[in-house]
Amino acid sequence: MKNKEIPYKIYLDENEIPKQWYNVRADMKIKPAPLLNPGTLEPMKAEELAPVFCEELVAQELDNTNAYIDIPQEIQDYYKMYRPSPLVRAYRLEEKLQTPAKIYYKFEGNNTSGSHKLNSAIAQAYYAKKQGLKGVTTETGAGQWGTALSMACAYLGLDCDVYMVKVSYEQKPFRREVMRTYGAKVTPSPSMKTEVGKKILAEHPNTTGSLGCAISEAVEAAVTREGYRYVLGSVLNQVLLHQSVIGLEAKAALDKYGVVPDVIIGCAGGGSNLGGLISPFMGEMLRGERAYRFIAVEPASCPSLTRGKYVYDFCDTGMVTPLAKMYTLGSGFIPSANHAGGLRYHGMSPVISELFHQGLLEACSVEQTAVFEAAELFAREEGILPAPESAHAIRVAMDEALRCKETGEEKTILFGLTGTGYFDMVAYEKFNDGVMNDYIPSDADLEEGFAGIPNIPQNK
Ligand SMILES: *Cc1c(COP(=O)(O)O)cnc(C)c1O
Repeated sequence: MKNKEIPYKIYLDENEIPKQWYNVRADMKIKPAPLLNPGTLEPMKAEELAPVFCEELVAQELDNTNAYIDIPQEIQDYYKMYRPSPLVRAYRLEEKLQTPAKIYYKFEGNNTSGSHKLNSAIAQAYYAKKQGLKGVTTETGAGQWGTALSMACAYLGLDCDVYMVKVSYEQKPFRREVMRTYGAKVTPSPSMKTEVGKKILAEHPNTTGSLGCAISEAVEAAVTREGYRYVLGSVLNQVLLHQSVIGLEAKAALDKYGVVPDVIIGCAGGGSNLGGLISPFMGEMLRGERAYRFIAVEPASCPSLTRGKYVYDFCDTGMVTPLAKMYTLGSGFIPSANHAGGLRYHGMSPVISELFHQGLLEACSVEQTAVFEAAELFAREEGILPAPESAHAIRVAMDEALRCKETGEEKTILFGLTGTGYFDMVAYEKFNDGVMNDYIPSDADLEEGFAGIPNIPQNK
């Protein structure tokens, strides 16, 4: 018999929502590499970042020393609208898999944006408002980030200008309408509204866009207009900081029952949910208090950690952003058109990249049909229709649990269930119709992307 003393869902009280974010960089002995100015190749200074990002967010971006940063009361109040999020013991899934492993997942999909992205959207919008700005610009791929930001901007009364990857704009009209309902202006990218968009369209008239492209447009739209700044939903240090609420709540819930996970698993696109989930646990490991296994899961069709290079690269296709040292496939890399499973960004958070480089974190890649098989089984057993992104973590958690079945180990597995998949039914349809296939880029495909990596002394 399983130990039923642990409830199906562990809910914290409202007053147990974290009041401070945890900054894992403070406990890293080797810090993530600084952003570089692509012109001078010197580390970006606060005043150089200020035209692009809000002041307070620049300070958070550059802060490698303060372990705890207070969450302003207004942000705490907003968090109360949809947090704490439940930590669920996957009893049904365990039974289905006939595994001795104990599986837990932290579910971040219980808000209208359908993902964890609201945790950082509200923080970034708050600091923009506090600085007296008129609005913010951003990019969105699948649409979760744009939706989260439009919700946060509606709440605070800020303009929200979203550049949405063209293929998603066309394939996900409902996502687009949710954003417009919250008052955002949504433009398919690449567009003729920016110089960089015009340039990309001149070179690739039939392009369906990419996240890297949309970032270039959104940055241009911010820096060329008074009272606007750019905000980004992943990758940056500040975003991982805001997402630490996921890990802090998960840890508090587990601590109530004396549960210590052996393995912690998260899907990795730009690395924000993974970074947020693992941060407090990684902090313990970095301070020598406890050991864990951490696993980043990425799609085989966009394998930045498992097959990328750890070098300085642009965060966008148009090469207008600072250079970040990260595992990257090259800023020109665009995943194959038949890739439907999300997580299509070419690079990876510098924090996650550095932890991986130091061997503190493992990475693996999975193919999309295996991901959707896991998603389907999870939906049927646990009731939640997962986002394809989240299903990458489900896949690896299930594989880990099945390995325990063979060895008889009673490992405790924690994974991040980042969101719901209601807007991903085109991908589910392909899977249900049996026409989804896997595409793994060849070494030659990857070489094309690597060729675009800047040829600078730091990369020698
Ligand atoms: C954006 C998103 C991701 C991937 O982004 P990270 O920054 O890597 O966390 C994963 N799951 C969902 C549901 C998302 O919306």
